[in-house]
Amino acid sequence: MGEKSESWDVIIIGGGPAGVAAAIYTSRALLKTLIIERGQMGGNITVTDRIENYPGFPGGIEAFELALRFRDHAVEFGARIENAEVTSLKLEGHVKVVETDKGAYRAKALIIAAGLVPNKLGIPGEAEFWGRGVSACATCDGPFYKGLKVAVVGGGNTAVEEAVYLTRFATEVNIIHRRDELRATPLIRKRALGEPRIKFHWNSIPKRIIGAEVVEGIEIENVKTRETGKLDVSGVFVFVGYTPTSGYVGDLVARDKEGFIIVDCDMQTNVPGIYAAGDVVNPIYRQVVIATGEGARAALALEKYLCDNWDKF
Ligand code: NAP
Repeated sequence: MGEKSESWDVIIIGGGPAGVAAAIYTSRALLKTLIIERGQMGGNITVTDRIENYPGFPGGIEAFELALRFRDHAVEFGARIENAEVTSLKLEGHVKVVETDKGAYRAKALIIAAGLVPNKLGIPGEAEFWGRGVSACATCDGPFYKGLKVAVVGGGNTAVEEAVYLTRFATEVNIIHRRDELRATPLIRKRALGEPRIKFHWNSIPKRIIGAEVVEGIEIENVKTRETGKLDVSGVFVFVGYTPTSGYVGDLVARDKEGFIIVDCDMQTNVPGIYAAGDVVNPIYRQVVIATGEGARAALALEKYLCDNWDKF
């Protein structure tokens, strides 16, 4: 693994909305900024078709175009983008060292904005229809199912809250849960159980998502009786938990038991000069507007940290 001799004021891990917003702020403040992104810029928004609730775009915008605009905006102010996978972090005094598959990079401060990966079911049809009939975001894609039937997989808070939200659009929301009791907390559970548009399929697991050009249904199996059946739905929402992209922080940065990075109200982690923003911090809302706000907040707090500590580098 090579050593990158160039050193940076700020390294941002992740080129999604939080990372790019942070980069716009830090590079505009004339801090030498590097974004390290392992895949394509834009993060999870690129798996959605359109974004209709990001301010400034009445009528909506293609998610891919928004991602390109985000990238161009950061580059316009001088941020550089490197395509690499971060493998670990360490400190050399106050300097933050980011090890990647392309070598090690050094910076005075760091923002972790690497997002999360929604857990998948791994059943036939899921990958094929992901982003066009199979989704992990009801706020993003729910309005596309006005007057149609949908299925929701999972029984946690996300699945149940999102199922209730989906009843605004869908005529029927089928919750498929592998046990006979919801994991969701009592209040959220009560809302769903009292909702006439929600049908429960207890002790059931999805086996296959069916369709030719578009999603036409989902095959389910009862885990107790082994009986199978088909639900005629136009959309499948998968809410079976999330995995934050945070394994590389090791023991250096504090995380909660699920791996989400713990921050204070300035988005600072337990390590001075290391910040985190966006979905890698909080799995509940997962909205572009929230991620960009957190990225900007982390960047502004980081600027203050660098002003106060510049003589240490
Ligand atoms: P979660 O609590 O981990 O629930 C995941 C659900 O998916 C569980 O019901 C689980 O079933 C099911 N599941 C997991 N793997 C599966 C598989 N392979 N096939 C079928 N079903 C599977 O995840 P979450 O609901 O996304 O919540 C994440 C965190 O955010 C939680 O801490 C939650 O409390 C929090 N949250 C809070 C709120 C709120 O307070 N308003 C809203 C959303 C999320 P089992 O139950 O059988 O394990």
